[in-house]
Amino acid sequence: MEPIMEIILSRDPEQKEFHQAVTEVLESVKPVLDKNPEYRHEKVLERIVEPERVIIFRVPWMDDRGEIHVNRGFRVEMNSALGPYKGGLRFHPSVNLSILKFLAFEQVFKNALTTLSLGGGKGGSDFDPKGKSDSEVMRFCQSFMSELFRHIGPDTDVPAGDIGVGAREIGYLFGMYKKLKNEFTGVLTGKSVNWGGSLIRPEATGYGCVYFAAEMLATRNSTLEKKVCLVSGSGNVAQYTTEKLIEMGAKVVTLSDSSGYIFDERGIDKEKLEYVKTLKNIKRGRIKEYAEKFSEAVYTPTDPGAAFNPLWNHQADCAFPCATQNEINENDAQNLVNNNVQLVCEGANMPTTIEGINVFQDSNILYAPGKAANAGGVAVSGLEMSQNSMRLNWPRQEVEHRLQIIMKSIHKTCLDAAEDYGTPGNYLIGANIAGFVKVVEAMLDQGLV
Ligand code: NDP
Repeated sequence: MEPIMEIILSRDPEQKEFHQAVTEVLESVKPVLDKNPEYRHEKVLERIVEPERVIIFRVPWMDDRGEIHVNRGFRVEMNSALGPYKGGLRFHPSVNLSILKFLAFEQVFKNALTTLSLGGGKGGSDFDPKGKSDSEVMRFCQSFMSELFRHIGPDTDVPAGDIGVGAREIGYLFGMYKKLKNEFTGVLTGKSVNWGGSLIRPEATGYGCVYFAAEMLATRNSTLEKKVCLVSGSGNVAQYTTEKLIEMGAKVVTLSDSSGYIFDERGIDKEKLEYVKTLKNIKRGRIKEYAEKFSEAVYTPTDPGAAFNPLWNHQADCAFPCATQNEINENDAQNLVNNNVQLVCEGANMPTTIEGINVFQDSNILYAPGKAANAGGVAVSGLEMSQNSMRLNWPRQEVEHRLQIIMKSIHKTCLDAAEDYGTPGNYLIGANIAGFVKVVEAMLDQGLV
């Protein structure tokens, strides 16, 4: 494995998040390479870590005062062995090529696990939608799409949302694509249900994550009923993770944003969650306001220099990181283990550092990596693509039922692969191996392209 890492480190030394994602996968798949010597001969690792195509472009736009700004746009088309590139767009000031390559790399294996025909990609911009008016967001999205439209298409590359890209942004992006191509096709997923979106797509990542957690607990004859849960984030994934946890009888006591977190010992019930949805999705406010509205909750601001995040240091049974990458470090992981947390199920992509993962792996905790546990979002995006192709809309129950079946299947696939390679119960190794083998076999079938 070292020569591959050396190539990556020397070629792109600054891409730390990408190195982290590759290291995690390479460490898991070594036994697969030992069992299949042709993989080394065919240089599958060298091929799989290199994106098929990376597009970087200028995104000029004008704010409401007439001032011009220039952001950078990206699309990483990582791997199309299993289908059209598929993966979200992220608008956040931290976005750079390293973050998008890590996300695109993860996406390849995640999409392989969904049982659908989807390749992997990811894109976005360092644009920050926070504090921008709707008109500014619209002008930005239009400018972004005026370049991206050349590179995507319903059979080529189908982007979706991610951090900072929700229903509003998808609407503006789609409108511009339609105008430029003079086509109404399923080129983006996460569309509004009025005009081509799928029911359950907004809920899918969070709901899927909770279904996955329920499957994991079932392996130990346990359920989510009455479990105290820590959830981070307060965006799309966190909201619907919380919603499904409440529905399954669990008690969610935390939510967060990049400024801080709230702890509500009595639990976030349905009414409080509705308040959060309005606060975040419509008013675009801060989670701090939750503690102003509900006096039983305590707000703690983020301390960027702190050695650990106090959100992960509450007594709880389960933890659902649903905000962003590397939000659980080694100390946080140790705190979770010390507090006897039984399960960590990742709604976000790569929310745990490698040191943190090692702490989980050395403990008895049930730990599910994001590429398995949060695959419900892209799975329902795949179902949205199918519905668009057929020009049909499936009812809510049908989509949710399919989502449940897919999450069960991913869970089983991970466990089976882990068992086959002598690491029973290890979801991380199982997910990496199962996703990797599926993609590599397709690449080999398709020749050296
Ligand atoms: P949203 O933009 O809806 O919400 C993101 C949440 O995370 C916000 O509460 C945000 O706070 C917080 N957050 C973002 N960056 C940081 C940071 N650097 N530090 C602390 N908090 C932060 O995004 P999603 O809910 O869609 O995405 C959350 C995670 O789930 C991401 O890792 C994403 O890649 C992953 N994911 C999303 C899928 C989807 O379908 N949407 C599918 C699969 C994975 P603030 O408002 O202050 O920025």
